[in-house]
Amino acid sequence: MNHSEFQKLKKIPEIGTEMYDMMVKLYPICRSITGDGVRKTLDIISEQVPLEKHEIPTGTEVFDWIVPKEWNIKDAYVKKSNGEKIIDFQKSNLHVLNYSVPVHKTVSLSELKDHLFTLPDQPTLIPYRTSYYYENWGFCITHNQFLQLEEDEYKVVIDSTLEDGSLSYGEYFIKGESKDEVLLTCYTCHPSMCNDNLSGVVLLAFLANHLKNLSLQYSYRFLFIPETIGSIVWLYRNEQNVAKIKHGLVATCVGDPGISTYKKSRQGNAEIDQTVIEVLKKSGDDYKITNFEPLGSDERQFCSPGFNLPVGSLRRTKPPNFPEYHTSADNTEFVQATYLADSFSKYFKIILKLEENFGNFYSKNNEEEPLEIDSKNDQVFLSLNPKCEPKLDKTGIYRKIGGERDNDSLTILWILSYADGKHSLRDISLRSGIDFKQIKQVAKLLQTKKLLKRIL
Ligand code: ZN
Repeated sequence: MNHSEFQKLKKIPEIGTEMYDMMVKLYPICRSITGDGVRKTLDIISEQVPLEKHEIPTGTEVFDWIVPKEWNIKDAYVKKSNGEKIIDFQKSNLHVLNYSVPVHKTVSLSELKDHLFTLPDQPTLIPYRTSYYYENWGFCITHNQFLQLEEDEYKVVIDSTLEDGSLSYGEYFIKGESKDEVLLTCYTCHPSMCNDNLSGVVLLAFLANHLKNLSLQYSYRFLFIPETIGSIVWLYRNEQNVAKIKHGLVATCVGDPGISTYKKSRQGNAEIDQTVIEVLKKSGDDYKITNFEPLGSDERQFCSPGFNLPVGSLRRTKPPNFPEYHTSADNTEFVQATYLADSFSKYFKIILKLEENFGNFYSKNNEEEPLEIDSKNDQVFLSLNPKCEPKLDKTGIYRKIGGERDNDSLTILWILSYADGKHSLRDISLRSGIDFKQIKQVAKLLQTKKLLKRIL
């Protein structure tokens, strides 16, 4: 493939409009990490490229995780005693705590409040919240509505099922001249949200569609998977083949008005990192480069110390730094065709560059300097679960409601991501900006939970 292939492309703005239309079609579907919403989404993607679909049964063990029960939902609402429906899943699927167990009962205002999620700082927006691995039920509403609720007997109905089933994901493979692969991945698990989730899905569907008829050096593997559990499932099932992955990108948040932001792979100076930076430099547009951090999307799993694959993530505004993030405002007005088109063009140019440099790139010197530390004031640990993130909530030291953050959880992620025997606690403190004392305390806790072993 060469530059003329890029010239032959349909006009980029037209591709942006087509991507936008596909996003609008996917928007109303209530997705989750499992269930019919994901299958419907994969069917729509298959109109662009014929996906190979996989169904992984509930209960399948994948590293430290277990494929959860399958969740489906038909309807959900809250009614006042006079019959007035005040919360209605049919109006927005964000109203239901994703993965809510079925409920059919009458509750007081105070019991109802225990199951309501709001955003006090953004009182007109509905938050997106999940409870995948901890059985719970709940509703998400605007804070303004919350403030108006009165004493009453509320009828609460969640017509959902949480049963043995399977986790669905889609894969599309384009065979190039070489067995070396470029991995392009996005997630298909968020309900009605555009930038965080759907923008990446439509970008990769269109990219796959445009690459499939070209003659390529690399082979290309596209993944449409539920975030976190999906990449863990995929890595578990494909562990023997991950060495073929020479470059990778996680596509998410590629449709907002912000400038392009590239999050480097954990390796930091891999060919993909240099290639993306070069393309962004040449674009003439503003951009930002950030170092790897163990927050974000599936790069957390692909770059976990046991894999450490050269996978970065090219986004526009870094999530969660846009106020629409994980709210009802991440909608079809927030994402625009022109931004999708611009992101598509950048991704395409990155592939072009990788193809151009195929076989010419310098080989990386993998020899690591032996780690020297001040043993009185520093410590070095090894993660005992280095392949993907360990399932932290089963240790009782991690948050239970998806979408909320706290300092300890953040510290845990930083430590586990760099507990590879090559980074000391002081290194981790420097990288993360987290106070050394806090790092040391949490490392000790992780050691008692048998997640870490001290080696120095
Ligand atoms: Zn998200």
